Amino acid sequence: MLCRYNLSGLMLADVRSRPPGTWRYRELLPIEGDPVSLGEPETATLFAPRLSERWGIEAWIKDESTLPGATFKARGACVGLSRAVELGVKRVVMPTAGNAGGTWSLYAARAGIEITVVMSATAPRTNQLEVTAAGGTLELVDGSIADAAVRAKEIADETGAFFAATFYEPYRLEGKKAAWLESFDSLGDADSMSFPATIVLPVGGGVAAIAAAKVAAEVRELGWSNDRAPRLVGVQAANCAPIVKAFEEGRDDVPPWTGDPHTVAAGLRVPAPIEGPLVMETIRASGGTMVAVEEDRIVESMRDLAATEGLLACPEGATTVDAAEQLVRAGDLDGPVLLYNTGAGQKYLDVLTD
Ligand SMILES: *Cc1c(COP(=O)(O)O)cnc(C)c1O
Repeated sequence: MLCRYNLSGLMLADVRSRPPGTWRYRELLPIEGDPVSLGEPETATLFAPRLSERWGIEAWIKDESTLPGATFKARGACVGLSRAVELGVKRVVMPTAGNAGGTWSLYAARAGIEITVVMSATAPRTNQLEVTAAGGTLELVDGSIADAAVRAKEIADETGAFFAATFYEPYRLEGKKAAWLESFDSLGDADSMSFPATIVLPVGGGVAAIAAAKVAAEVRELGWSNDRAPRLVGVQAANCAPIVKAFEEGRDDVPPWTGDPHTVAAGLRVPAPIEGPLVMETIRASGGTMVAVEEDRIVESMRDLAATEGLLACPEGATTVDAAEQLVRAGDLDGPVLLYNTGAGQKYLDVLTD
């Protein structure tokens, strides 16, 4: 279920005349009244001179580490909770791999509504503490986010709370479009937005990937760009790569990952992505591909990006550096390329200690 808009007549110049950030794109968002906001800034689309030189193509990084909660989950939380408030919701329940639960708890506190978050007992302690500090109810389950989803649905059915799982409500996906709109605008010129040839992004549930394809189509429909839609490269941790595996096997379905899904990229511990086939179809339709990154390369990529470009990325975001390297070696990366850093490395300092 995806939101659809009547997009005729909205002029890019008018949007550009508004203050920067998420809410300048409000006609492309499902919100009518005042949003629940923590002052989401426009995040940087950074030119990466050293990676560009190394790869021989123009490389950029969309850096989401400066958002509330220090990850791009703020994109979904501000729009998802704004919409929930408009719908009269008083209580939300959601399963999460970690960051969404922490950030939704902060925005729920801001909105003055109750939240229950269900996550794996192995989810990062940082995320558990975000929930409880914000006054949310935290429930831990044995198993993965898939088990958390079963429990969260049970709670929703018992209590009537709004079930805010990925892809069950369509609004968080809409919020994630704002990141791409900001980047397309930064890469554009005086008259139009511009798409990078390739976007390399981490894929857990795949919301960010589908949001990218959806909003590129909307931008073209609005006439704000005539560029070819970007080629999407989805990246997963080799220890939890159900979509990479299905993609490589040429399947249409995405069987659940059967191994232990442990990875330092905690946001990518999604062994049974609920809309896996749609994510895969979206990436295929874009002419893109799926890439897996080994554990040791994830941490090395965090160090690499910090040392080369000065950006301490989260492990999920850092996977994009190794994935891009793999594609460069295979002669399969078109520039300009935009890497998606989904959050701050500061939330994951423990992975840098050994
Ligand atoms: C949730 C998360 C991801 C995965 O995003 P999806 O949109 O679910 O694919 C990547 N990075 C971080 C830091 C996350 O919290």
